[in-house]
Amino acid sequence: MTRRTWLALAAGLALAASAPASAPAGAQDETTKILLIGKDRDHAPETHEYMAECALLETCLEQTPGVEAIVSDGWPTEPGAFDGVDAIVLYTANGGDVLLDPSHREQADRLIADGVGLVALHWGTGAGEELGPRFLEVMGGWFNTAFAEIPVVDSAIRPADPDHPIARGWQTTPMRDEYYIKLKHLDAARPVVLSEVQGTDYPVGWVYERPDGGRSFGYVCGHFHDCFEIPNYRRSVVNGILWSAGLDVPEGGAPVEASEQDLTLPPDPRVPGR
Ligand SMILES: [Zn+2]
Repeated sequence: MTRRTWLALAAGLALAASAPASAPAGAQDETTKILLIGKDRDHAPETHEYMAECALLETCLEQTPGVEAIVSDGWPTEPGAFDGVDAIVLYTANGGDVLLDPSHREQADRLIADGVGLVALHWGTGAGEELGPRFLEVMGGWFNTAFAEIPVVDSAIRPADPDHPIARGWQTTPMRDEYYIKLKHLDAARPVVLSEVQGTDYPVGWVYERPDGGRSFGYVCGHFHDCFEIPNYRRSVVNGILWSAGLDVPEGGAPVEASEQDLTLPPDPRVPGR
């Protein structure tokens, strides 16, 4: 629920409190709506499979009761696309440039001011030099190769703070990935996932509670489709999305069941036979 939804709900509850005891509770069917913004393939096969992996995350997110997830190829332009949206997931090239694009900047600023949750995954944490400083303000972190590096290494993801809801239900997990390191972060951003890269611990996942309201979660992992086959990785992502949407992460972590079919990438004309 966004802040506006909360206010409406609070008003409704106040009315309900003064109504006869038989009045139906109005908040029972409230759903949490999550919009995943992906994009067509722009990388080598089996990397940055935005649309397929957004569909996989949609499947996992909807295993938590009350969650409705929607996938869009690029920023949605149809009227009402953002109605009731509690969190936006940017899983696309330079998510900051997609979010803050001048063609819909007022709409994005309204969503941010309204306290919508923001999630940026892998290249989604990126933004160009022009929009990057503003993206840093709202995300708490900003990736750009002008200052960051992108080593591909065997490492592991591990919870930075076992008491944070995003740490629920998963533990240190080995993972080969393209780890983005040396990002810019705000001091108020808090690491939630750490990886050791080249002998140093880096905050590969972080949370930032925006002073004007709204939760942001950035997570630089997920270059390889193989990462998404790891249940603990999926859980760390889905926990973060639920948290950003203002939900309580289940005690044992979010359910993230995925079938063989869910994990199979769609045909790729660039790969003969697939
Ligand atoms: Zn990558």
